[in-house]
Amino acid sequence: MAIWKKKRNYFTLEPQGAPTVPPVLKPTIPEGLWHKCRVCEKIILQEELKKNWGICPKCGAYSRLCAKDRLGSVTDEATFREINGNIVGTNPLDFPNYDEKIAAVQESTGIKEGVITGYGRVGGVKVALAAMEPGFIMGSMGSAIGEKLASLVEFADFYHLPLIIFSASGGARMQEGIVSLMQMAKVSAALKRFSDHGNLYISVPTDPTTGGVTASFAMLGDIILAEPGTLIGFAGRRVIEGTINTKLPEDFQTAEFLLKHGFLDAVVRREEMKSTLNRLLRLHGYRS
Ligand SMILES: [Zn+2]
Repeated sequence: MAIWKKKRNYFTLEPQGAPTVPPVLKPTIPEGLWHKCRVCEKIILQEELKKNWGICPKCGAYSRLCAKDRLGSVTDEATFREINGNIVGTNPLDFPNYDEKIAAVQESTGIKEGVITGYGRVGGVKVALAAMEPGFIMGSMGSAIGEKLASLVEFADFYHLPLIIFSASGGARMQEGIVSLMQMAKVSAALKRFSDHGNLYISVPTDPTTGGVTASFAMLGDIILAEPGTLIGFAGRRVIEGTINTKLPEDFQTAEFLLKHGFLDAVVRREEMKSTLNRLLRLHGYRS
């Protein structure tokens, strides 16, 4: 009798029918309309943030800029012209799903490869410019990026234009294997010829710039500038700590740390980047 009773109690405790799940709360605001500042955590209109070149109007913190906005933040209005916008990479290793991944990122970013190259004016001075796209497979450097950058350096060399490159990268694009690594030498060689002809190259590594890009053209500038707090390094902090078995300083691989140790020439606020670039260009004899 006692066993039967226990059994009956057991069954009555079981939930009846399909388990009920609380309804998923869908946001009522269209995705991408609002932005939450990572520092002050205030909610800002995406549109307002874009107009302010990614600078939080509440606390002044920076959010990452896409390549188009980065170029827009330093060039005079409507002066930028893109070149080689149709260069795309291949899949030299037949890496599985790589073509599909590229197609998806092209769709989401609206650009064909992870860098925009061209020319425009900064405070009236004509310059050749490039900005890497952090949203394009982490700004990783594949063959198309190398080709576009090397072509831009040669373009600037031919027209005796000063060159400004805003890099942003997670390093080499592993899906392209050795072909990706070769881009470091290719762009660096073009920069050497550019430099030998007496031209000016200003490099601006942006947050984050790491791996093969740091190990090549991002650190080859005649002048190297970065925004406050920018992460610039080669290997990641944890990898280095594990290898040398030492605790690294808190500000390791930040723009401020690099400036202190001679890797950067100046830490420049985003609000002052355009005027600083213009001043440097004019100091080196470039005019409108
Ligand atoms: Zn803020």
